[in-house]
Amino acid sequence: MTVSGNRAFLLGLAGVALLRAQAGDPGGHPAAGIAEIGAIPAADPAEFGPPAALKSIDTVTGYRDWAAAYDTGTNPLIAVEEPVIASFVDGLPPGRALDAACGTGRIARRLADLGHEVIGVDSSPDMLAPARVKVPEGVFLLGELLALPLPDASVDLVTCCLALTHQPELIPVLREFVRVLKPGGHLVTSDVHVLSLYLGGVAGARDAGGEYGLMPASRWFASDYLAAAKAAGLSFLDHAEPRWGDSPDHGGPPARKWCPGSARAAYAATPAVSAWRFRRDRARFRSKFRPESRGVDMPRTILVTGAGTGIGRAIAAAFAAEGDEVHITGRREAVVKEAADAIGAVPHVCDHTDPAALDALGERLPGHLDVLVNNAGGLAGEDGEGLAGLAAAWRAMLDANLLTAVLTTELLGPRLREGGAVVHIGSIAADKGAGGYGAAKAALGSWNIGLARELGPRGITSNVVAPGYIGETEFFGGGMTQQRHDTLIGLTFMGRPGAPGDIAGTVRFLASEGARYLTGQVLNVNGGAWITR
Ligand code: NDP
Repeated sequence: MTVSGNRAFLLGLAGVALLRAQAGDPGGHPAAGIAEIGAIPAADPAEFGPPAALKSIDTVTGYRDWAAAYDTGTNPLIAVEEPVIASFVDGLPPGRALDAACGTGRIARRLADLGHEVIGVDSSPDMLAPARVKVPEGVFLLGELLALPLPDASVDLVTCCLALTHQPELIPVLREFVRVLKPGGHLVTSDVHVLSLYLGGVAGARDAGGEYGLMPASRWFASDYLAAAKAAGLSFLDHAEPRWGDSPDHGGPPARKWCPGSARAAYAATPAVSAWRFRRDRARFRSKFRPESRGVDMPRTILVTGAGTGIGRAIAAAFAAEGDEVHITGRREAVVKEAADAIGAVPHVCDHTDPAALDALGERLPGHLDVLVNNAGGLAGEDGEGLAGLAAAWRAMLDANLLTAVLTTELLGPRLREGGAVVHIGSIAADKGAGGYGAAKAALGSWNIGLARELGPRGITSNVVAPGYIGETEFFGGGMTQQRHDTLIGLTFMGRPGAPGDIAGTVRFLASEGARYLTGQVLNVNGGAWITR
């Protein structure tokens, strides 16, 4: 049973003052505690009313009661909390920020002032109304923390201040934040500190009938936040527990009247707020070439096509491990999703030979890209009867290995940022001669020259990486015999097949700061199996 009545609260404050004194805590106040605990029962019962069971009030009802008054007067909790939140968000580079449980928009306002594109989400229409007035440039949406109305990996920063305590469990809500955060994105949270929940920190409000009740308040300890963050895929960055200062107003007017010494002792140096800063995992930042980053490490946005398996998957994993926001595609939904989950990328089902599918992909991808890797390709089509059969086989091969890259680049080229890179995966087959497949890969190299010329003035490079025989892929299907395997290895200087990671390393280099003057080339990565001067 939750007991109401200020008398119980005041007796509790005096009790805390005594407990602190008994424990030798410098904040304790034995004299005041003993004197005041004696005076409180004598206080006029009419002033306090009898203890009574309190009802529970849901947050939508509770914040309806609070909405009009939320921003009026001074809230000592917010006075302690806001400087910490400011210290966590002020240094972050502007991006797209979600203020989850935005309330009347106090944090959203700060984020907008810092230059973020702000989206606010709250389950209370009554709180959203003043938020829209306070941050007219923001977008405010009605929604629940467990089902945010935002796409995956769509924001750089999530803030959720003084609201998580209303959730019965932390892991589901942190997972939902991670879903909408880009890899490397930040999460900043605050809550009433668990110790201060016992000092009147549980939010109360009146329902439509005027009856008073308490809103849900989970008691989270630091270990709860850390365990939940780990489970959700967040790395710890900062934690702060700012304390109440000394004030004659602690405990409100009744405490000031009946037990001011006890109230001061109970609040003195007690943590008021528990504030956290986490980062979505796979966020090892490095110095970036993006001009607008101005020396600030920022994740890049990257698309790797055909990355459910083999070389593409290794390339995507390499970028994701660096903290970049990586989008991957493939035609088989289950395959591309499994890969995305494993490497921390965003999956998209798309056949890159199909213009309509590409148009749909364009709708789902971010508005800017830093790196495009045209990897989708492989052996396609089957020999058919006569010239018609031959034409169909060649068209399938050209579609799979040339048009995939041409169409994707045409679609996304305009979205490439200055300093970006395009890499196409060619093949050793282009030089060695291998029917329609080799011809298609050779054509990729030719087309790339014009493309590199076109993109150069925008500071964007474009190159072909031509692998030799690479193992651990689905390229050969079941068609690789031991004899052929040995022959292909025998052609190399290294005495081994290439690994997908060998190609990923070269692609990463081409997309790095060190390769900004390298464009219009074909880089052979074949262990010496095909040599050039
Ligand atoms: P894989 O078959 O393992 O990978 C190719 C991936 O591309 C698959 O995941 C496939 O998935 C996807 N893909 C193929 N066509 C399309 C399409 N039209 N649209 C979207 N996704 C597509 O082989 P590799 O990793 O070896 O192949 C990667 C690239 O490397 C290819 O361009 C290949 O030609 C080239 N290469 C490979 C060599 C090797 O020895 N392995 C040597 C030289 C070059 P899904 O079927 O689900 O769409």
